[in-house]
Amino acid sequence: MIIVMNKEVTEEQIGNVIKKIQDLGHEVNISRGTKRIVIGAIGDETKLDPEIFDPMPGVEYSMHIVKQYKIVSRESHQQDSVIDVRGIPVGGNQIQVIGGPCSVETQTQMDLAAKQVSSAGCRLMRGGAFKPRTSPYTFQGKGRDGLGIFRAAADKYNLPIVTELMDVRMLDTFLEHDVDVIQIGTRNMQNFDLLKEVGRIQKPVILKRGLSATVTEWLMAAEYIAAGGNHNIIFCERGIRTFETAYRNVLDVTCVPMLKRETHLPVIIDPSHAGGKAWMVPSLARAAIAAGADGLLVEMHPNPCEAWCDADQALNPQEFTDLMSSLRGIAQVIGRTF
Ligand code: PEP
Ligand code: MN
Repeated sequence: MIIVMNKEVTEEQIGNVIKKIQDLGHEVNISRGTKRIVIGAIGDETKLDPEIFDPMPGVEYSMHIVKQYKIVSRESHQQDSVIDVRGIPVGGNQIQVIGGPCSVETQTQMDLAAKQVSSAGCRLMRGGAFKPRTSPYTFQGKGRDGLGIFRAAADKYNLPIVTELMDVRMLDTFLEHDVDVIQIGTRNMQNFDLLKEVGRIQKPVILKRGLSATVTEWLMAAEYIAAGGNHNIIFCERGIRTFETAYRNVLDVTCVPMLKRETHLPVIIDPSHAGGKAWMVPSLARAAIAAGADGLLVEMHPNPCEAWCDADQALNPQEFTDLMSSLRGIAQVIGRTF
């Protein structure tokens, strides 16, 4: 069962709840988020009851959660969670489009891309400095230097940056560069040590869905992050692997309403890695927003033909701007701000 404590709780009140759980023979997991503290009592649930905890000082509410995922479940928190990225809300009524190239290449490329995504109306920018490539012989990303290039370009347009963390040993470097949103890529969705580490900090995390992960596995991966105390998680569907070979991956739009029901956390869609072709991106992006996604992660390159990575799926600046306009129309129809 979970015991949710309010923000103003004292250490003594937390200690009392922990002691009560232990006295009843249960293990304790304490997850200190920025908005709420969730204490999990692990063990035989039949021996616990909200009546034991609800009257205790500092306790907001307590409940049995049937699902395996607790903190991220809608059951544990009815309202939609809005993740604050340097003052920009992800989740809630406003749709956010995170645009930018697949990878950081040069300062000129990133400066231009930042200018273009900003003028198209994006409030956040993407770009990979560490790239998970299928082949060890292809461009692996600019690494540490790439973070500096990205930071410098995005700062000129006041854009928070989203970039992938592949290796736990780079976490301090990410924090030094004040990366605003840490992306956990598809291939690392079940890298539990990595998930635990990003769970220890409060930076927002975009958790991409594993190539062949079920929705439950994905929710459980998010629970790893939340259990450590980081509740700032954004789910990102980017296409899954099926028997179909006509396109890179199959965009699972079905997961949007499903996740919206199962979790209070925001859900965004990456139409670029789903379709794998630039001409498919607008359709998939529009379908995602119409289905209720809270935003998009879209690859845009100043000159796609010259992109060092994922050239086929990058929109050019004009295509990106046109997409933004058509999304504005959809947002209006479904009563969301853009
Ligand atoms: C990316 O967004 O750059 C990326 C590598 O995505 P994925 O992990 O979805 O393949
Ligand atoms: Mn890419």
